[in-house]
Amino acid sequence: MNDCIFCKIIKNESPSHKVWENENFLAFLTLGSLNCGHTLLIPKKHIDYIFDLEEPLYTGIFLTAKQLSKPLKKAMAAKRIGVIIEGFTVPHVHIHLVPLHNEDEIDPQRVKKMTDMELAETAEKISKKIKSGDESIL
Ligand SMILES: [Zn+2]
Repeated sequence: MNDCIFCKIIKNESPSHKVWENENFLAFLTLGSLNCGHTLLIPKKHIDYIFDLEEPLYTGIFLTAKQLSKPLKKAMAAKRIGVIIEGFTVPHVHIHLVPLHNEDEIDPQRVKKMTDMELAETAEKISKKIKSGDESIL
């Protein structure tokens, strides 16, 4: 568990570009992004597999994904927010929230590494939109 990169990000032992957090969940930008604003939403509790999450975390993570999708969509001027859950790369539950502008954008071949500057600017833009939003987030 202690080698888990996401647990390190939660504890601020590894750097990340956070966009939002509360006591149970954290949202931050991926380094390898399908599109600008590609966000990962994770529970703060280390659990490998999404369907092993117990209540209220299981329902909570999906509700949080829904609430984050609105400001994320606005901040990135996206047509939709796509959702991917697979979890092979890091054994800590994560929901990918991907701003989409066209179909066929969810393709691993398209993943591109963002610069630190791009990530910092994007995180700032999204978190501002979340704070200024009219919909409340848990
Ligand atoms: Zn972990």
